Amino acid sequence: MSLRLIANWKLNGSIEFNHQWAEDFFKNFSGSNFKSIGIAPASVYLDHLIKVIGDCGIEIGAQNIYEEESGARSGEISATMIKDLGCKFSIIGHSERRLFFNESNKSISKKLNQANKNCVMPILCIGESAEENQRNITYDALELQINEALKDLYELHSLIIAYEPVWAIGSGKIPDPVEINSIHKMIKDVVQSRFPKVGLNLVLYGGSVNSKNASSLFSQENIDGALVGGASLSGKEFALIANVLNELS
Ligand code: PEP
Repeated sequence: MSLRLIANWKLNGSIEFNHQWAEDFFKNFSGSNFKSIGIAPASVYLDHLIKVIGDCGIEIGAQNIYEEESGARSGEISATMIKDLGCKFSIIGHSERRLFFNESNKSISKKLNQANKNCVMPILCIGESAEENQRNITYDALELQINEALKDLYELHSLIIAYEPVWAIGSGKIPDPVEINSIHKMIKDVVQSRFPKVGLNLVLYGGSVNSKNASSLFSQENIDGALVGGASLSGKEFALIANVLNELS
């Protein structure tokens, strides 16, 4: 699997939305590599979206999974459950989960383990806060998040990391693409040198990506794709971003 562009619909969507989105996306997508595209709807719509999207190759995944497989945890969903539905990936450790649901690196590490055990591709989100960015400690903050998430895992067959500066999410602001490129290189170096048993596939960028800034990002050597929030809510806009990625890869 080579997921390079993932839509994170967050707390948005409906049955009607799934149909309209798919119609708009397929009308505007001009590429043929559907397998590089993933969509993470709210978990209640996973099954419906899988049926609406059909078997063109677009992967459907979850926005979050729980750190254990089953038991007395009302309201949670597990890696085994999403796998059962046919999901291929799960976002793990999104900054909104860290911030609003107090998700710790320890919990994130357990979630990575669950994804790994079930052959669900984990999309691990890391990113510095606005304050860390202003204090010029972005690299330290990212290294800490990587170390804490991966240090207790003996092995991880495959992993995608999404670098998402918290201050860039939903703000319309993005760092200089050259700077993002250096950060992605650092992330790849840290994972490869410290965690040789982790199969890091790709490093995606996330934070205010749209069809206008996509080519400045995707033309960088170490930006392998993107995790897209707001702009992914329009099937047309997301297709235009996918077209840019297609042309440049
Ligand atoms: C996100 O929340 O993962 C994200 C990238 O959001 P946005 O594209 O809206 O900044």
